[in-house]
Amino acid sequence: MITPGSRIGILGGGQLGRMMAIAARRLGYGVIGLDPDPACPLAAVADEMVVAAYGEAAAVAHLAARVAVLTVEFENVPAESLAAAQGRTRLAPGPQVLHAARHRLREKDLARHAGLTTTAYAAIHGPEDLDAALAVTGLPAILKTCELGYDGKGQRLLRSRDEAHAALSVLRPLPLIAEAVVPFRAECSVIIHRSPSGACAIHPVFENRHHRHILDVTLVPAALASATVAAAETGIRALAAALDLHGTLCAEFFVVGSGADERLVFNEMAPRPHNSGHVTIDASRCCQFENHIRAITDLPLGDTSLLLGGGAMVNLLGEVWASGEPDWANALTNAAIKVHLYGKGEPRSGRKMGHLNLAAADPAEAAKRLIAAREALRASP
Ligand code: AMP
Repeated sequence: MITPGSRIGILGGGQLGRMMAIAARRLGYGVIGLDPDPACPLAAVADEMVVAAYGEAAAVAHLAARVAVLTVEFENVPAESLAAAQGRTRLAPGPQVLHAARHRLREKDLARHAGLTTTAYAAIHGPEDLDAALAVTGLPAILKTCELGYDGKGQRLLRSRDEAHAALSVLRPLPLIAEAVVPFRAECSVIIHRSPSGACAIHPVFENRHHRHILDVTLVPAALASATVAAAETGIRALAAALDLHGTLCAEFFVVGSGADERLVFNEMAPRPHNSGHVTIDASRCCQFENHIRAITDLPLGDTSLLLGGGAMVNLLGEVWASGEPDWANALTNAAIKVHLYGKGEPRSGRKMGHLNLAAADPAEAAKRLIAAREALRASP
């Protein structure tokens, strides 16, 4: 066990790093962050920041030597930096987890081996693979880069062979993954924490609604059949065990069919706290960030049950600031709504600036209230 008072290192200073650090400090740990931006969201919360690029192996090695455990807020840590950290401190999650989770082909292969259902998919290393891949997926299909894609970036819908050839000439780097389109009726995610001792805690399943490929609203618990929830839990446990995860893993699924025909199709995973889990800060007995810190330090995991039986979250993107400072007084007339802001300077369009949470027995009603509050935030011109 890494006892409170020890130092935790966090690679990446965005909102996830910041909320990890808030939880770590509540538990009495010190925090040293690493980020190229000295004004990043983590900087205001960490005891100390190392200002360096993630690929600067010497800086990562220096940080690693000063902390009892090093965690990450994103999966795309350059391999040289991970190698530099190894041997100097404990990595949580380990390099094998980041290696699998940062690559769409590897994560889908892993999910299949762990017994989860995926959509039909095929690797494309060059134009010569295209016909065979489309024979596996059929049309329409979705073509994605394997690495560095997020929030819908690096992917194209293919309705014809011509579109496929055009997309193949622009999407980089190779290889790409072609996926059959899943006729989903909803999207959901499930988050697990796993300690070095193998102890696990799983949050109730989240239902996620996206707008322009960016998470917009999360409801918890997702309205799913109990057999579907059980399948999500079995699936995430199998993934965490296969990866020998120390830390937090989020898996995203498509929900297909309903009633007795309802089933989950695995889409992707992230080896860290996830935007869909932000609602747990206010709706759950122990949130995803505190449980992440407990998992990487091997403290007993906290209770993931819901305080009031449910809740919802809405993201606040830069657009909320389009006409000036949001009207906080007007929006927060519902005193149960909690505001989380990440301390980011410039509210650019699509940039995640913060979120609103509401714990409530009825998640759909909570979401409705949060959406109304977000509307009221937009200052009148
Ligand atoms: P991803 O980056 O894989 O999470 O994809 C972003 C969004 O694109 C997902 O949330 C879905 O709405 C959609 N999408 C991705 N892959 C598929 C697929 N195979 N079938 C249908 N929709 C997809």
